Amino acid sequence: MSGAPGRSLRPDWTALRAAARDALRFAYAPYSGYAVGAAALADDGRLLTGANVENSAYGVTLCAECSLVSALAMSGGGRLVAFTCSDADGRVIMACGRCRQLLWEHGGADLLVDTPRGVLTMDQVLPQAFGPEDLARVNGGRAAAGPGTAAPAARDLGSEAHGEEPS
Ligand SMILES: [Zn+2]
Repeated sequence: MSGAPGRSLRPDWTALRAAARDALRFAYAPYSGYAVGAAALADDGRLLTGANVENSAYGVTLCAECSLVSALAMSGGGRLVAFTCSDADGRVIMACGRCRQLLWEHGGADLLVDTPRGVLTMDQVLPQAFGPEDLARVNGGRAAAGPGTAAPAARDLGSEAHGEEPS
């Protein structure tokens, strides 16, 4: 355990990559046969891992980053400071486009991302990203209120849907 918060943590990439490879055994990938394991370091020193979880309805498949980010939230939240993911051969692979957005949300521009081209920052692998600050600029900061806060758009959709019920 480290008392040093956030950016002062120095990621042990060897250990992180090993954790990602270990997470591969939890992958559920009967359709593609392409298992992925992911590992990340949180700003309080927590190690998070994830694996992909496929679905017979292919589009509903969850990438390894999905379970990793869920693990982050379910174990107390915080910020990701270093991330890696691995294929079944142990090669470092890149997060897909969708998951780069997930990582941006929970790590921001400074998140260190292990890539086949070396360790890069999140803003190098997702330039000009859309993020919480874009929502805050328009709705006066309500996006910063955190989980559990119903977005105005969701409420509007709810009442609109109710109004369209057949009578
Ligand atoms: Zn993905």
